[in-house]
Amino acid sequence: MNRQATDHKGDPRTAPAAATERFETVIVGGGQAGLAIGYHLAKRGRRFVILDASQRTGDSWRQRWDSLHLFTPARYDGLPGMPFPAPAFSYPTKDQVADYLEAYAIRFDLPVRSGVRVDRVSRDGDRYVVAAGDSRILADHVVVASGAHHKPRIPAFAADLDPRILQLDPNRYRDPSQLPAGGVLVVGAGNSGAEIAFEVSRTHPTWLSGPATGHIPIRTGSKWDRLLTPPFWWFVSRVLTVQTPIGRKARPKALTTTSPLERVRPKELAAAGVERVPRTVGVRDGSPMLENGRVMDVATVLWCTGFRPDFTWIDLPVFDQDGTPAHHRGVVGSQPGLYFVGLWFLSAFTSSLLGGVGNDAGYIAEQIASHQHDGQRRAAARHQSGGSPGPDRPWNAKHPTPSRSPNSANKTVLYRMIGAAVGRAQRARPHGPAVMSGVRMGTPVLLLVDDDPAALEALAGDVGRRFGADYQVLAERSPVAALAALRRLGAVAGGCAAGRRAADGRDERRGVLGGRP
Ligand SMILES: Cc1cc2nc3c(=O)[nH]c(=O)nc-3n(C[C@H](O)[C@H](O)[C@H](O)COP(=O)(O)OP(=O)(O)OC[C@H]3O[C@@H](n4cnc5c(N)ncnc54)[C@H](O)[C@@H]3O)c2cc1C
Repeated sequence: MNRQATDHKGDPRTAPAAATERFETVIVGGGQAGLAIGYHLAKRGRRFVILDASQRTGDSWRQRWDSLHLFTPARYDGLPGMPFPAPAFSYPTKDQVADYLEAYAIRFDLPVRSGVRVDRVSRDGDRYVVAAGDSRILADHVVVASGAHHKPRIPAFAADLDPRILQLDPNRYRDPSQLPAGGVLVVGAGNSGAEIAFEVSRTHPTWLSGPATGHIPIRTGSKWDRLLTPPFWWFVSRVLTVQTPIGRKARPKALTTTSPLERVRPKELAAAGVERVPRTVGVRDGSPMLENGRVMDVATVLWCTGFRPDFTWIDLPVFDQDGTPAHHRGVVGSQPGLYFVGLWFLSAFTSSLLGGVGNDAGYIAEQIASHQHDGQRRAAARHQSGGSPGPDRPWNAKHPTPSRSPNSANKTVLYRMIGAAVGRAQRARPHGPAVMSGVRMGTPVLLLVDDDPAALEALAGDVGRRFGADYQVLAERSPVAALAALRRLGAVAGGCAAGRRAADGRDERRGVLGGRP
């Protein structure tokens, strides 16, 4: 039995009187991503708890606007172990999705604690501390499944709009009856914007602002939809992934491009009387202004300009300056035991969708099961005593790190980046330990060491973005911590180099992390 299981003896759904508990894994967020991880961990017999701020499982769907139907057919809306209970090519309502998620949690008896908002995740030694109000949970693993659609992206100039203009975003829009009489400017012409504009145009004069995003040429639910969706889904879920060259190439563009319209198309918008207008770029005399200088006299502005996740409660150095976590397939190399799931193109084009999140959840559950601390200690002990790899050696059964080694051109770029970082560190701190890289033969683990946390975070961000698909990136602040991290992984560094300028000014480059490959 694992240690955490004995630490918490009661029902994991209810917090005990004692304010500090222990679990092997804490999942933050009980939407589809958190439930899918829970399913895979439960199947592996792991001890975990799911903390969710909502009052009821499925609430993030219930709270979306009333007329919302899925854009994906029911055939691709099922989580692992339970198909979506609707005809394969029907498009469920948002409330049906919410009910399905609730039924899923019940069917697999997942330990969801509802109404618990996590305020802070931090680190204390080799454990994570998850704080929610007065209670604390210590955990070996934390999975962040808090969703990617929390904060609407609203331009700063929105604050200058006349306060008499009602401003809403898709999280607060319910139906047209909410809106005062007068014109409505819907800003953002993606799927949400187009569907909402189409709906409000029945009762209000409506303008849809923003460049056209194109549209999918087949009609949802049609014969062609049934015929072409399966190969399309296969392509976007199996080929457009970080494990294929085409997927890695497509990812940066996919992360910043608005999806084409699926259900409501330009022709229907025009027929409904929705006028397409250019991008909204500012405010003049309290009213929204378009990029062609036209000022819109409207009573409502609906911002359908996208969302971003809210990770302000995560107190760990894993984000770049845009607030994006550095990870490979959701595994944060710089913070062993920390994972993200449910993010847009986490590992595949479909990662944030109902039918795609299960794959990522399975992969992360596998990492958790294979990296449990006791196993890591045993693996490290065997290394130290020179034993051969055993059956629970993390990379032995199914290797947790990327299977593909980078090609030599990529390696050259990588070594140049590391070299440049070593140079920068040496110039900034002439006598301090600088940066090491370690690529174990056959095991693509990349180790970055720098005693300056800011430099380390920046380097890990750069390297993670560029090489996260090829290497598991570990970032540590000292060679000793680096060695321990490698041991925890059960890996031995071979061919490691340390860049450092010695006190007498000589450049030193030497192998540091010895061991057998
Ligand atoms: C308008 C819209 C339409 C979509 N249509 C489709 C579609 O047709 N098909 C499809 O497959 N996908 C669709 N998606 C994408 C995706 O399926 C949904 O966004 C889905 O809700 C994501 O699930 P999630 O579990 O990642 O996050 P969420 O559903 O947002 O769940 C996250 C949970 O975490 C909780 N939480 C957040 N922060 C904390 C915290 N600090 N502590 C504790 N709990 C916390 C929240 O309360 C929430 O319950 C759509 C998304 C949007 C916005």
